[in-house]
Amino acid sequence: MKQKKFILQESEIPTQWYNILADMPNKPMPPLHPGTKQPLGWEDLAHIFPEECSKQELNMADRFIDIPEEVLDKYKFYRSTPLVRAYELEKAIGTPAHIYFKNESTNPLGSHKINSALAQCYYAKEEGTTNVTTETGAGQWGAALAYAAKIFGLECAVYQVKISMQQKPYRSSIMRTFGAAVTGSPSMSTRAGKDILTVNPTHSGSLGTAISEALELAQTTPKCKYVLGSVLNHVALHQTIIGLEAEKQMALAGEYPDTVIACFGGGSNFGGIAFPFMRHNLKDGRQTEFIAAEPDSCPKLTRGKFMYDFGDEAGYTPLLPMFTLGHQFKPANIHAGGLRYHGAGMIVSQLIKDQLMRGVDIPQLESFDAGMLFARTEGIIPAPESCHAIAATIREALKCKETGEQKVILFNLSGHGLIDMTAYDQYIDGDLQNYHLSDEQIAANLQ
Ligand SMILES: *Cc1c(COP(=O)(O)O)cnc(C)c1O
Repeated sequence: MKQKKFILQESEIPTQWYNILADMPNKPMPPLHPGTKQPLGWEDLAHIFPEECSKQELNMADRFIDIPEEVLDKYKFYRSTPLVRAYELEKAIGTPAHIYFKNESTNPLGSHKINSALAQCYYAKEEGTTNVTTETGAGQWGAALAYAAKIFGLECAVYQVKISMQQKPYRSSIMRTFGAAVTGSPSMSTRAGKDILTVNPTHSGSLGTAISEALELAQTTPKCKYVLGSVLNHVALHQTIIGLEAEKQMALAGEYPDTVIACFGGGSNFGGIAFPFMRHNLKDGRQTEFIAAEPDSCPKLTRGKFMYDFGDEAGYTPLLPMFTLGHQFKPANIHAGGLRYHGAGMIVSQLIKDQLMRGVDIPQLESFDAGMLFARTEGIIPAPESCHAIAATIREALKCKETGEQKVILFNLSGHGLIDMTAYDQYIDGDLQNYHLSDEQIAANLQ
């Protein structure tokens, strides 16, 4: 009988994260102070973020970093996650390729974000912090953080983009169930929010407004740290548990991937699955190909510019060297809320600049075509974000069908879509559309 699912024993779960910064041929340029434009040290970052995360952010020396015992204990609630061979999907496509997926949707929060939320809350708690705050769009990060904060005994305040809060009400219900205080942004609870609402009382909010409010709360509340769910190096570091497990599980399957694929918002689930395999390209001469699948409506990797830019709309964050569409870029309101971000994390940006990885753009309808086929073959309804990875996988599998190549393709299923069923209803009813950007629109934003 063919084996479908590969799972590790608790004792086989990796006990260290992989820090690709130590192995990169060209290191990312440093983050800069938004005012003075001087490189930032970890002490500067530690005013905002937990101290240990600030050190990890700039750590170029240690290839492997120990996962704290307490975090490993919590990982064991839901790890290892299954590595699955997608036989039914292969059959439906008619491809000779072997398709595997790493299923990060099986934890109760429904996405990979919990892998970093647990680590960040653990460090915050250890350092004497009592409160954490963040922003969230669709709410997957907010939900993961709310749970992680609860089990480490921290108070959690989440600013959720007001329009998303109205569109996806169940995510704020989840956050509140775990005890977080959820505020629609812009709100009257911060100076920044008041200023925005004074100018525009009906402002529907953006990640930019929510970041500004969360940052302000962190800076004006004693023992409160700001934590982020993507983009930054330490977040991708925590996510490497995905790829490190997958490496062992692929070995159980007796295979090694020719192609590794994940969807791309800020880069944490992509980095999480890709970096551990990339290490064998850098060190051992492997030639795995890495594909980051981004929405056609937010194409920073393929059509953005590599430059220093802010992480938020207001320009409060450090300046980061990244592929960006401009920090005031307003992405179309696609259902993959987690992929609507103007910039790419620093490590992936550098690796793409060095042509060690590449991005592909997926139109919204193609992403749902792929999600539907996956649901109907493998029985899992994928998150709208994850549908982009599936679409890119199907493209590669179809190429194999043409050439007859029996490639091994591994993709990351970053989350399930059970709280995104409105999106599937709209797709099934024919009410979804593509949003393509012209070169002129992109150039105007980068001005
Ligand atoms: C947040 C999210 C993403 C995008 O974030 P990355 O940091 O790029 O991984 C992708 N998939 C799901 C399910 C998410 O919740």
